[in-house]
Amino acid sequence: MTKQGIGTKCVQAGYTPGNGEPRQIPIIQSTTFKYDTSEHMGRLFDLEESGYFYTRLQNPTNDMVAAKIAALEGGTAAMLTSSGQAANFYAVFNIATCGDHVVASSTIYGGTYNLFHVTMRKMGVDFTFVSPDCTPEELDAAFRPNTKAVFGETIANPALTVLDIEKFARAAHEHGVPLIVDNTFATPVNCRPFEWGADIVTHSTTKYMDGHGAGVGGAIVDSGNFDWLAHADKFPGLTTPDDSYHGVTYAEKFGLGGAFITKCTAQLMRDFGSIQSPQNAFILNLGLESLHVRMPRHCENALAVAKFLKGHPKVSFVIYPGLEGDKYHEIARKYMPSGTCGVVSFGFKGGRAAAETFMKHLKLGAIETHVADARTCCLHPASATHRQMNDAELIAAGITPDLVRMSCGLEDASDLISDISQALEKV
Ligand SMILES: *Cc1c(COP(=O)(O)O)cnc(C)c1O
Repeated sequence: MTKQGIGTKCVQAGYTPGNGEPRQIPIIQSTTFKYDTSEHMGRLFDLEESGYFYTRLQNPTNDMVAAKIAALEGGTAAMLTSSGQAANFYAVFNIATCGDHVVASSTIYGGTYNLFHVTMRKMGVDFTFVSPDCTPEELDAAFRPNTKAVFGETIANPALTVLDIEKFARAAHEHGVPLIVDNTFATPVNCRPFEWGADIVTHSTTKYMDGHGAGVGGAIVDSGNFDWLAHADKFPGLTTPDDSYHGVTYAEKFGLGGAFITKCTAQLMRDFGSIQSPQNAFILNLGLESLHVRMPRHCENALAVAKFLKGHPKVSFVIYPGLEGDKYHEIARKYMPSGTCGVVSFGFKGGRAAAETFMKHLKLGAIETHVADARTCCLHPASATHRQMNDAELIAAGITPDLVRMSCGLEDASDLISDISQALEKV
């Protein structure tokens, strides 16, 4: 069969029913699976044979949806997690543990920043944050002998900086480590980071992939391109026997295409257990089926809103990489030629108070700690998602106290603009 387009994959990848089987992905709502002999189950536990035994590790519904996401990203293997937070934690902790170091872009999602800067530091993993706009020399200087990965977001939430994926991939590979890219905001419809050199992709599927504000979830996808064995000394977890799994060496037994996800499932999911429920995976798949239809509309609405805000006298700045003249417009055109995302950030000449007044008067746009929903919503990061940060940290993350993040939904652009317009009149 010829190579399928992204839309066909959104609709059909991951599950091909046989004769007389359900047309829609079945929800296998079962914690466990039955076997005829203990010996057979023993082979599953030894990873000698593939098969399901307990849903904390793997479930058929989840695997079908993960296979669709792998196909969308052009990866070799994928897994679902209970949240985007779990996906980013697992993706990093799978290769960077106590005593290791990671280079990360400074303009990442607030939850990920806390995970790295506070919680994973307590676990003994150190991080150096670099500006996404750093020079290759500055990026190079951030590496240490114990660096195990580089991390960034395709389009950062909520700073809307665009990652120069090739620059970050080049630096990572020169130092013999993989680049992990959180592709939540762009989605594989607008950007496929593996095509630009990224090695691992993560998602908060809670956002556009689900797209309806219905289920929290995450995903990790492996490109299968990173050669763990060529840097065996850096990644002993993948290249030496795992005593907790009867001496299996993941990179040898599962190859470059399967090692990362198998280890992540067999060790981290087994021990931390952040599995996505099969019911949520089913809901996620419904979202994926229309992702390629929804993304262009989100982008179209966001561009119309950004253009309107740009010309408004009470607005001090507008950040939208899809907008001509935006700092990241050119780089967005390179990595995301068919659109960026539905999120627009902007600020007010009247500062923080004006931002709060504006939000209070919106009628269609609801105040929510959410983005990437079919319904337009907005948030004041300085008083919500990023309130743990001090002013210096906020600025480094690309957020000012007056910044409002508006996630443009799938409504009519004209209705969104009249809602914004009447709320601006109250400011
Ligand atoms: C929301 C988000 C996360 C966290 O995902 P949850 O599903 O809320 O746990 C991680 N990265 C990005 C870019 C996000 O937008």
